[in-house]
Amino acid sequence: MTKKREFSTCGHCGSPYPCAGRRVGYCSLECALRSRVRVAGPDDCWLWVGARNDRGYGQFRRFKTFHYAHRVAYELAHGALGERQVCHRCDNPGCCNPAHLFPGTARDNMQDMHSKGRWPADRVARGEAVGGSRLTEDDVRAIRRRIVAGEALRAIARQYCVSQGAIQGIAHGKTWKHVA
Ligand SMILES: [Zn+2]
Ligand SMILES: [Zn+2]
Repeated sequence: MTKKREFSTCGHCGSPYPCAGRRVGYCSLECALRSRVRVAGPDDCWLWVGARNDRGYGQFRRFKTFHYAHRVAYELAHGALGERQVCHRCDNPGCCNPAHLFPGTARDNMQDMHSKGRWPADRVARGEAVGGSRLTEDDVRAIRRRIVAGEALRAIARQYCVSQGAIQGIAHGKTWKHVA
């Protein structure tokens, strides 16, 4: 009977780590992330080169837990976020540059509520005046220009960290009617 290997070598930093028979490849979450992120300049997008989900977000599994690469990148740089989601300033779901990431707030959920029509229509139509909105009137004008230019609604939604429904509302003139 062969003895179970107690230590394995990290595939990123090369240091031995206790693996207790489980082959996870890397000594830490950080090494698991760094091994598959192509780090570039401080202002560039740092691309995840591992597996991605259907929305383009980097994903990996470690000890039976699935992790989002950009979320791990944010949390390693800035600390744990709890329930909040991590959004991209750049329009690049595979980007793991902590400088391009920011935490979503409870307001994102409010924005979702608007788009799902759970708020009275008159409050929705007033847009920015509603406490829940994370978009400004300037954002809305910029978003309209991008819609007219033919950009995908999904891409715009991702960059502004709102739901696709929120962008659809702007596109169809259902929300932000007062913004000229
Ligand atoms: Zn390591
Ligand atoms: Zn980026």
